[in-house]
Formats: sequence, structure tokens, C-alpha cells
Amino acid sequence: MSVKTLTPLTTGVDEYNVEKIRKDFPILAQTIHGKPLVYLDNAATAQKPQAVIDSIVEYYTSMNANVHRGVHHLSEVSTKAFEDARIKIKEFINAKSESEVIFTRGTTEAINLVAASYGRAFLKEGDEIILTGMEHHSNLVPWQLIAKEKQLKIKIIPVDDNGELVLDDLENFFTEKTKFAAINYVSNSLGTINDVKKIIDTSHLHSVPVLLDAAQTVNHLEIDVQKLDCDFLAFSGHKLYGPTGIGILYGKKSLLDSMPPYMGGGDMIAKVTYSESTYNELPHKFEAGTSNIADAIALGAAIDYVKQIGLEAIAHHENCLLEYATAELLNLEGLKIIGTAKNKCGVISFVFDTIHPHDVGTFLDFEGIAVRTGHHCTQPLMHRFGIPATTRASFAMYNTKNEVDILINGLKRVIKVFK
Ligand code: PLP
Repeated sequence: MSVKTLTPLTTGVDEYNVEKIRKDFPILAQTIHGKPLVYLDNAATAQKPQAVIDSIVEYYTSMNANVHRGVHHLSEVSTKAFEDARIKIKEFINAKSESEVIFTRGTTEAINLVAASYGRAFLKEGDEIILTGMEHHSNLVPWQLIAKEKQLKIKIIPVDDNGELVLDDLENFFTEKTKFAAINYVSNSLGTINDVKKIIDTSHLHSVPVLLDAAQTVNHLEIDVQKLDCDFLAFSGHKLYGPTGIGILYGKKSLLDSMPPYMGGGDMIAKVTYSESTYNELPHKFEAGTSNIADAIALGAAIDYVKQIGLEAIAHHENCLLEYATAELLNLEGLKIIGTAKNKCGVISFVFDTIHPHDVGTFLDFEGIAVRTGHHCTQPLMHRFGIPATTRASFAMYNTKNEVDILINGLKRVIKVFK
């Protein structure tokens, strides 16, 4: 693999200046065990810029009130900020309408919503659902639950030794019983960028709707749901430099309109009597109860921040780090990279022949380096590669080449100690 130089791309504002960006993330200035923090666990959750932290503080300091139901000033201000955030998200993914943007707690809840609501209403015994061999448990277990309830069959698109989906005979996956596909866009364990357009187009030839799990995508690649023509898309705010506890389900209006509510409660109704209820229009039909208002607004602030730097510039920077790290890691004795797809972003996973990932992670922690070790909520994928776990370093807009060097030096010491 040739290594790109770390030439900065021009951002929306000025030249990509990683040191300037780092100053916007107060947590990065910390020391851990007496060493400067090197945060390489971004695929688990990204750190938050001051703008996002300020948004949360500002909301509770001057705006807090419940949305939609009040006529008083604070409620109107809060409702406007909440709905403005929805518009920002609509624009960020280029949805046709903000009514297609539903606030959830995260990717997991968004996928559960579709599996439960669409699954219960439209899938019947014997129907088939297509998933891939690299799904996060969040895009596998909800489908297993509905499959058990409805006697559905789950079919898995296999993964090859490089960590790419085997799509050559994709057509053969479809039968007249295939009724849904739920597909990982970017693998959290391998970093593979899947050819989701091919899967969507093939699925649509068979009138099969497609849900994309974009949890690891929105922070690295620009998403245009209209161009992709996906039917549903799920992501979490916290991987996009926003808060935890807030996420998005995008769905095509016609599909969302046809689906029954997922949860019942306040805000999702039109009229309620003791015997029955009618439901609110989109998106509120799927937002029962008080929403996570402050964090929805802060997700809007995160999107503003990301747009200001520019996703293209961020992706370029991260790809340079990924290529540099890949080349350096391959020089280490006994190390094997898991996931060598041609198209990757964000993540590098590796194993040592004789050192357990948990030992690697614990050792690195003492050096101030945060990486993730384990199965990354993809146990079947680990099984596919015949390993229990990997060590995973994952990059964000604020990581530096120097941090990659610190990681490599830390790993050299790991090898020395454990061999
Ligand atoms: N899907 C993928 C690919 C992920 O990486 C993750 C989290 O790591 C999820 C789904 C679940 O996201 P959350 O826990 O924010 O709901």
C-alpha cells in the first residue's frame, strides 16, 4: 500500500489545521497515567468539541422546557431549537423532508424500531431477510428477535479473507421470499466500506427495501440518502462528535407512513379515547414521550461543527493517518491486520500471534493510549476470522501522525515485554 503524505486539504474555513482543531476538544488536553492522552477509540465514541458542550449548557441554562405542547415562551424557544436541529440533520443527509428524520436514542434503537414496526406489520412466516457477515450486533439481534417471532429466515452475505463482502453472486441471494435487507455501510471492526449502492440497486430490482447501518459512516463519508436511494438509514450522534443518547432514523416517507407506531405515549397521538387512539403525523408518530431535546439540539451543533471543518477534509486527514498507521503496523513483528479491504476508512484492527488483545490494550492504557480490544460487538465476524478479539485503533478529525507514532512505539514495548 502506498502511503499518502499528510498534505492538508483546504477545509471550509482555512487549511486543515489539526492542532487548531484539537484545541476545540477540551478532553484531549488531559494526561492519563501521567502521559498525554492519545485517544484512538473513536469508533466506540468520538470526543465532543466545545461547541457541543456549550450547546448542552446553554440549553439547560436558558431554554429548558418541554417541546410541542406548551404555549409559553420557553416551550416555543425549545421547540424551535429542537425542530431546527431536525432540519440540520435533514440537510446533512439530504432527506427530502424533515418529517423523514426521527430522533431515537441511537443506531440501536433506530434499527429496533424498523425491525419491530416494519417487521411485525409486513413480514410473515417464511419470508427472508438479507444481512451481511459483518453486522454489529445492533443490526443482527433485532432481526433475530423478529425472525424468531415471525418464523423468518435470515440470509448472510459472506465476508472474504480481506474483509470484503462477497457480492459476485448477490443476485442469487434473492428469491420471491426476500422481503428486507439490513446492511452495514462501514464495518466498525474492519473499516471496510461496503458497496451499498450495488446492494440497494439489486434489492430494489426485487422490490426489497434496504436499511443502512451508517453508525460508522456519517463521521467519515458524505451521505445523500436520495442518491443512495436507501429506504432507511440509522446513525448515532455520539460517533459524529455529538452527545450520547441521541440518534437518527431516516426513512422514506411512504414507508414510515405505512408503518405502525413502535412505542405508544405522549406526543405520538392525534386523538385518544379509552377504547382507541389515532396517531400523530410524521415524524412525531415515532417519537413517543419526551424526547432527548438538549442532545438533539447539541447534535445539530455537532453537525454545524463538522460542516465548518468539512467532511471531505476530515476524511482526507483520517485516510492519511490510516495509510500511515497501516504501513507502520505492518513492520511490527508477529502483527497481522484483520481487514485489508481496498476501500476502508476510520478503523484499523490487528492481532499478534502470541499476545492477547486485552494485554495489548491494558499495556497501552498505561502509556495514555486508548484503543479498544474485544469482539467489537461483532462476534460472528470474529468467528469468521477464527479469532476471539482484535485490538482496534480508530481515527477522528483530531488525531495526529505523532499519535500514530506513539501507538507504534507503545506496541514495540508491548512486543518486548510479552515476548
Ligand atoms: N452499528 C455499528 C456499525 C456500530 O459501530 C455501532 C456502535 O459501535 C452500532 C451499530 C450501535 O450504535 P449505538 O450503540 O450508538 O446504538
